[in-house]
Amino acid sequence: MNAVVADAIVVGAGIVGAACAAALAADGMRVMVLDSAFAGGGTTAAGMGHLVAMDDSEPQLALTSWSNRLWQERSRTLPPACEMDPCGTLWIAEDEGQIPAVEEKRARYAGHGIAAEAVDAAGLAKLEPNLRPGLAGALRVPGDSVLYPPAAARALLESALGRGAELREGVEVRAIGPKEVETSEGAFRAPVVVNAAGARAAALTAGLPIVPRKGHLVITDRYPGFCRHQIVELGYLASAHTMTSESVAFNVQPRATGQLLIGSSRELAGWDAAVNPRIVSRMLDRAVAFLPGLAGLSAIRTWTGFRPATPDKLPLIGRWNGVDGLWVAAGHEGLGITTSLGTARLLADLVAGRSPGIDPRPFDPNRAAAAAVA
Ligand SMILES: Cc1cc2nc3c(=O)[nH]c(=O)nc-3n(C[C@H](O)[C@H](O)[C@H](O)COP(=O)(O)OP(=O)(O)OC[C@H]3O[C@@H](n4cnc5c(N)ncnc54)[C@H](O)[C@@H]3O)c2cc1C
Repeated sequence: MNAVVADAIVVGAGIVGAACAAALAADGMRVMVLDSAFAGGGTTAAGMGHLVAMDDSEPQLALTSWSNRLWQERSRTLPPACEMDPCGTLWIAEDEGQIPAVEEKRARYAGHGIAAEAVDAAGLAKLEPNLRPGLAGALRVPGDSVLYPPAAARALLESALGRGAELREGVEVRAIGPKEVETSEGAFRAPVVVNAAGARAAALTAGLPIVPRKGHLVITDRYPGFCRHQIVELGYLASAHTMTSESVAFNVQPRATGQLLIGSSRELAGWDAAVNPRIVSRMLDRAVAFLPGLAGLSAIRTWTGFRPATPDKLPLIGRWNGVDGLWVAAGHEGLGITTSLGTARLLADLVAGRSPGIDPRPFDPNRAAAAAVA
């Protein structure tokens, strides 16, 4: 029998594992974090870094709005490398037909205490002069932000390390058993093991309903002031919700460097990481349709990443019934940067037996199996 090395072993040092490590260490637990590659290098390094209240479902809105509040509290202590920018979000209504959706979204957000204001066509043109004329309006959500995800993951890990956690990079977990992990460096034991291996989590825990959902991003050269908000089309949510084989939605982010990050696509393409020029061109056409001036700017890099997607678009957070001592924090699809802090707080509350800040039931990792039985 191997010796117990920690109170908790976290498998995966992406932003979700890093946040879990920070929360468990803040509770006084001795934490060991294992990553087969390096911290913040998985999907976290491929993401956009939009910290966004999102309302595909009530549980999603509860988790994203709670997480955004936690990010705001944390922003005071984040190092400059995290590039946290409280730029807010503009959800664009292309035509008058979408204006009722702006009002519905505003009302839903108000129900969760999220400030948001409807902006008319003239107001929108003033806020973002590079948008094409003729757009009907927008919903402005001033409390949303953007940050640089790999640096944020590092900062969360630093906070855990400062409380005595140990980070071991380049250590591959090959199997997770009851209160034990088998790794490329031998077996380690702990009463709590957290599977936070992102899109790869299902390879370690059979039965987790997570599949990779590929996304492309393009980044431009530096054009400071070209846009000031994260700008997203209202139709983005539909594109994220429907598990079609392929979808594209307009989403542009101003970076602290003056660069523009242009997204985004969704594709079920297995683990094929190659850039798909046809999808990039669809994505850019969509972006230019909203911001015509983009056509004259230089793009300097394009990449892909794999969102860890679940069938009901909600992450898996909590105790896994199948293996003694195993907890799951994975399956965050396109919102894992945002929801990492809420996830970690929820997980730490459940591990400690405290009453959690939001209803944990919609995130129960066993829900798919339970639904199948029912
Ligand atoms: C194009 C794109 C845009 C996005 N934009 C946003 C956005 O604007 N806002 C937002 O909130 N989210 C966004 N996301 C989603 C977000 O990036 C992810 O939800 C989030 O990064 C998932 O984090 P994670 O820690 O679960 O996974 P990862 O970052 O993938 O971390 C998992 C870690 O586990 C390690 N690992 C895997 N298997 C093993 C093993 N066997 N042993 C040891 N270690 C292992 C990996 O090396 C990795 O470091 C976007 C994603 C994409 C692809």
